[in-house]
Amino acid sequence: MKIWIPIALLAACVIGYAVVAGGAPAGEKAPAGAADPAPAKPAAHPAYHAHSPPIGEKLMLSEDEWKKKLSPHQYRILRESGTEFAGTGKLLHNKEDGTYRCGGCGAPLFDSETKYTSGSGWPSFYAALEGRIVEKVDTSHGMVRTELLCARCGGHLGHKFSDGPKPTGQRYCINSASLEFQGEDGRVISGE
Ligand code: FE
Repeated sequence: MKIWIPIALLAACVIGYAVVAGGAPAGEKAPAGAADPAPAKPAAHPAYHAHSPPIGEKLMLSEDEWKKKLSPHQYRILRESGTEFAGTGKLLHNKEDGTYRCGGCGAPLFDSETKYTSGSGWPSFYAALEGRIVEKVDTSHGMVRTELLCARCGGHLGHKFSDGPKPTGQRYCINSASLEFQGEDGRVISGE
């Protein structure tokens, strides 16, 4: 029986240390904020249209604010009317159902139903969502083209051509880096 005495003393010391150190003795519930072995709940995804800003709302940021918000590549395309290399866009071959949003401000721009394979090397759509895109005459590079801009933030998206499929005959030729895609489960993929 003598062997049990040192074991009992050792156990008492361990419990005492746990209490002094702020730990919870066995049998008591751990205080809030302590490490919880239970798995974290998955984040609730909002409905994908829930955070769409209203049509007509504007987002005006300074160039410094855009530089902080965007990557250098996104900034060059969205704010300096750049063009990504053909065939390189992350969303070029995306075929999931969902909404394509502006990579700068998150406004919805295109429905996946209108995306098609144009063979151009850039994501292509035959129609834009109502009121989300503005058009501007672009005479750069010795051509006359129709430039497409996000109606909310003014970000450069791409150009529109009249060689698209039915029912509109239009081709909205868009830089993948100007977009983000939100699937029906709420998941967002950057087009960069
Ligand atoms: Fe935008």
